Amino acid sequence: MNGDDLIVLRPEGLYCPAGGFFIDPWRPVERAVITHAHADHARAGHAHYLAAADARHVLRARLGDIALQTLGYGEGLEVNGVRVSLHPAGHVLGSAQVRVEHRGRVWVVSGDYKLGPDATCAAFEPVRCDVFVSESTFGLPVYRWPRASEVFAQIDAWWRANAEAGRASLLYCYAFGKAQRVLAGVDASIGPIVCHGAVEPLNVAYRASGVRLPATQRVGEVTDKSAFRRALVLAPPSAQGTPWLKRFGEYSDAFASGWVQLRGVRRRRALDRGFVLSDHADWPGLQQAIAATGAQRVIVTHGYVDVLVRWLAEQGLRAEAFATEYGDEAAEEAAAATE
Ligand SMILES: [Zn+2]
Ligand SMILES: [Zn+2]
Repeated sequence: MNGDDLIVLRPEGLYCPAGGFFIDPWRPVERAVITHAHADHARAGHAHYLAAADARHVLRARLGDIALQTLGYGEGLEVNGVRVSLHPAGHVLGSAQVRVEHRGRVWVVSGDYKLGPDATCAAFEPVRCDVFVSESTFGLPVYRWPRASEVFAQIDAWWRANAEAGRASLLYCYAFGKAQRVLAGVDASIGPIVCHGAVEPLNVAYRASGVRLPATQRVGEVTDKSAFRRALVLAPPSAQGTPWLKRFGEYSDAFASGWVQLRGVRRRRALDRGFVLSDHADWPGLQQAIAATGAQRVIVTHGYVDVLVRWLAEQGLRAEAFATEYGDEAAEEAAAATE
């Protein structure tokens, strides 16, 4: 660490000393810049929030009536002489990389990001910088994503076969981001789409933000229970094994996640199917994104931190880690459960 670093680690979170603000802090602070509305990055209790304009509705769905200022992508704001701007991260609706510029030096904090296509959010844009602060959620060489279009074709084929056999298609996916990406990607003509109570408020926020999604029904609003036999049902992973499932009668279940690329994950969860669909960069994606920044120094925040740091050092880059509290999927599940 240098005394003049633009971003440093404080007990509250990542801090910009020159600007006097935090980025995705995990303890309550005065000024928080938020990369995206997942619960481990956007926490309650800050006095002031700054986020991308596209994140407005999803942040309010999650955190209620917070004091929120927004910036369009690429728009600049001076904070105590530090120039702050937000750039698309391609992760979920409203996700942003935070670019911080001070006295000719540029740092970029990625939040979470992916390079692959997603109809529900703006595409990742590489931003040139001196220092790049990167996630590494799937920072292992085994993680290489198939094309999303192929995965949606697999989901459609599974749903169609289930509908023809008269059983529900229960697809577990994270309530914010993944569920809406699935909605935008599947063939909605196959049957009705029914959503868990944790998913539907996010659908509403996405539509309010101008994202086109097919029609959905909240589970509790379905009066004709026979409709479940042709339905695609989206639910958070926490619904698995709960009495909530009883209403569906016979069903096939599946999980849409990057984690199911490892076969053991699907087996341990005792699921019929696993669909490899992630909102994070895979191993080649991390390398590509980091190279595109031109950064000579990289700081890794969460996920397979040691693996990525070692690989970057082998490439001749200055690589280190910040010990953060991101990547807590239990926090995201808890946030979904309260919706
Ligand atoms: Zn995230
Ligand atoms: Zn994260």
